[in-house]
Amino acid sequence: MSGTLTLVGTPIGNLSDFSPRAVEALQSCDFIAAEDTRVSLTLLNHFGIRKPLVSYFEHNKRERGEMICRKLEAGENAVLVTDAGMPAISDPGEDLVALCHERHIPVTVVPGPCAGIAALAVSGLPTGRFTFEGFLSINRRSRKEHLDALKQEPRTMVFYEAPHKLLSTLEDMLAAWGDRSLCLARELTKLHEEVLRTTLSEAVERYRETPPRGEFVLIIAGAVPEQPTPLTVDDAAALARSFIKEGLSVSDAARRAAAETGLKKGDIYRAVIQGEE
Ligand code: SAM
Repeated sequence: MSGTLTLVGTPIGNLSDFSPRAVEALQSCDFIAAEDTRVSLTLLNHFGIRKPLVSYFEHNKRERGEMICRKLEAGENAVLVTDAGMPAISDPGEDLVALCHERHIPVTVVPGPCAGIAALAVSGLPTGRFTFEGFLSINRRSRKEHLDALKQEPRTMVFYEAPHKLLSTLEDMLAAWGDRSLCLARELTKLHEEVLRTTLSEAVERYRETPPRGEFVLIIAGAVPEQPTPLTVDDAAALARSFIKEGLSVSDAARRAAAETGLKKGDIYRAVIQGEE
């Protein structure tokens, strides 16, 4: 019988966020697949855990995924961790999880912190509906296509960004969407945690002056759907006149224009008559 792959969320800064169940999962597995084994060793040492480590990252994921699945199929239990946060969320793991499902290997999860969700919760922007966008591509064309596709997106948007690319990302967002409210959640759970509610234009100005440092999540307000400009009585009177030209009486034309515009028949009638005087 196959063993189980357990996804274990790890702290995004503060080691006290590592749950007792996460420690238990690491203690009881046969081996740990980790994005960067040196980073994970720090965590394991802190909790006094000694387990065989296997590296699993973007550039070895094909061959390592096969190897990990073979071990699981032989009955071993594995834990998958990344450098910080939830495995498989803008991190290696997505493909391994899919491969396990394909091969009917059980997958379970010990949830932990996720930078995007923590930032969304603390942002003060609407959380009822949101879209997770991860990192923008560094390729100029796909980056522009991604931003253009989100111009009318009404849901709150969650982005990850590295500090050295933050300013150009904010500039590109401002150029693509115009000014918007946003929350910059920096260094969450760490000593220099900062939650800044601002706008794209103010943020651009701020980071042109002082280059950003630390890890950031960007929570951006969705587009406000454009409201049609409300119709005036004059618009309704013009509509009524077009009905009169088609042969309706003033009264019937005003009634139909009222039905179509939601304005009062009496007001439309008066406007039509006054226009004729
Ligand atoms: N899998 C992780 C998760 O569940 O949050 C995300 C990994 S992704 C490779 C790393 C990005 O997450 C960083 O570039 C930054 O945008 C964000 N991030 C990670 N830790 C953070 C923190 N403490 N504060 C703010 N953002 C953080």
